[in-house]
Amino acid sequence: MDLNFTDEQTGFRDEVRAFLDRELPPRLSEKVSRGKRLTKADYEEWHAILNARGWLGVTWPKEHGGTGWDAVRRHIFEEETTRAHAPRILPFGLAMLGPVLMKFGSDAQKSHYLPRILNGDDWWCQGYSEPGAGSDLANVQTTAERSGDHYIVNGQKTWTTLGQYANKIFCLVRTSREGKPQQGISFLLIDMDSPGIEVRPIVLIDGEPEVNEVWFTNVKVPVSNLVGEENRGWTYAKYLLTHERTNIAGVGYAQAGLTTLKRIAGEQMQGGAPLMSNPFFAAKVAQVEIDLMAMATTNLRTIAAASNGQAPGAESSMLKIKGTVIRQQINALARQAVGPYAAPFVSEALEDGSNVEPVGPDYALPASQAYFNNRKLSIYGGSNEVQRQIISKAILEL
Ligand SMILES: Cc1cc2nc3c(=O)[nH]c(=O)nc-3n(C[C@H](O)[C@H](O)[C@H](O)COP(=O)(O)OP(=O)(O)OC[C@H]3O[C@@H](n4cnc5c(N)ncnc54)[C@H](O)[C@@H]3O)c2cc1C
Repeated sequence: MDLNFTDEQTGFRDEVRAFLDRELPPRLSEKVSRGKRLTKADYEEWHAILNARGWLGVTWPKEHGGTGWDAVRRHIFEEETTRAHAPRILPFGLAMLGPVLMKFGSDAQKSHYLPRILNGDDWWCQGYSEPGAGSDLANVQTTAERSGDHYIVNGQKTWTTLGQYANKIFCLVRTSREGKPQQGISFLLIDMDSPGIEVRPIVLIDGEPEVNEVWFTNVKVPVSNLVGEENRGWTYAKYLLTHERTNIAGVGYAQAGLTTLKRIAGEQMQGGAPLMSNPFFAAKVAQVEIDLMAMATTNLRTIAAASNGQAPGAESSMLKIKGTVIRQQINALARQAVGPYAAPFVSEALEDGSNVEPVGPDYALPASQAYFNNRKLSIYGGSNEVQRQIISKAILEL
């Protein structure tokens, strides 16, 4: 297995770097590097820049307007965009719904929705989780009852990321109570401006209303918005989750976080010397860097195997666990490094146009923000405990 990049791949890296130097607005990279909150308009601006270059559908085949990139190119692209502090590409339409529609959607759904995702005409959110259906997703209780040409939807979704900006939501709904719970689930596309939908914000520990509850009361949804067949939604839901977990290791994000951590520890003084010269602190940074290098190699091995046509199995669960734990360790060290400045967390100072002054040096507030916000990493996309269950079944056959 060759883990070195070919000349062609190195050339692609240069091309991405040149593109980012030229096209990534400094205003956006500055916001990302300083941990400022991105607005809806910020995300839309970056998506449009990538789309104009043909680089928005990074996991999509060319026939649907995607890049057609293999896993190695996607990896290089992620490394370069995170290094340059580009906004992330939001996954809901592009990495989640798009692949499901390509595989299971009707021709009408493909030709209507896929170009709209690329063009930014629709902002999708993911309506999977409910208060009693997270890890146990098959326990979905939101119902969709057939009434002529429509379904009538009632129930509640929760943790709906950026649902406050969305004009569309793809939902898992219960259409039957016969048989196993998995056999009565359908996959439905719903307009967020339909009468009977209410979005209620949930404010997270970092003060950001990043997630929401979405309530449905007698919401009328045309039957033509059903993806695939009724009661086959579990198959489509699982297919979507395999796409949600691609690039789950987040190597690029961890590397960017490590660079920031080293910068903070190089600037923050302790007893008249930079914190990084404290051997105890330096040892902690070195340990997390070693773990990251080991994980990055495992990630490359998985990518190399994927390029040779092998589907990743339990490796993606290992990468999910290691990747998220390493990112959280980096966040914890950065917060530790800023010392007392980590305590006065002034959430409002992260908002666009806020005139509230953060306390301490420039890097203190983003360090705390990243620490709080990234608690989510080990929960969503399948919690780390659940990933360990997958590993114990797949590898240890327990
Ligand atoms: C910030 C954030 C954003 C999210 N965005 C979205 C979104 O946009 N759309 C969406 O649909 N969902 C979203 N989610 C929901 C996410 O997918 C769920 O939180 C996740 O699946 C866990 O479900 P839960 O919260 O109900 O916890 P539970 O499933 O109730 O788990 C509680 C605890 O029990 C553990 N546990 C559960 N089952 C097992 C088991 N079998 N073995 C061992 N331990 C177990 C879990 O690991 C966890 O520690 C988001 C979550 C967060 C935190």
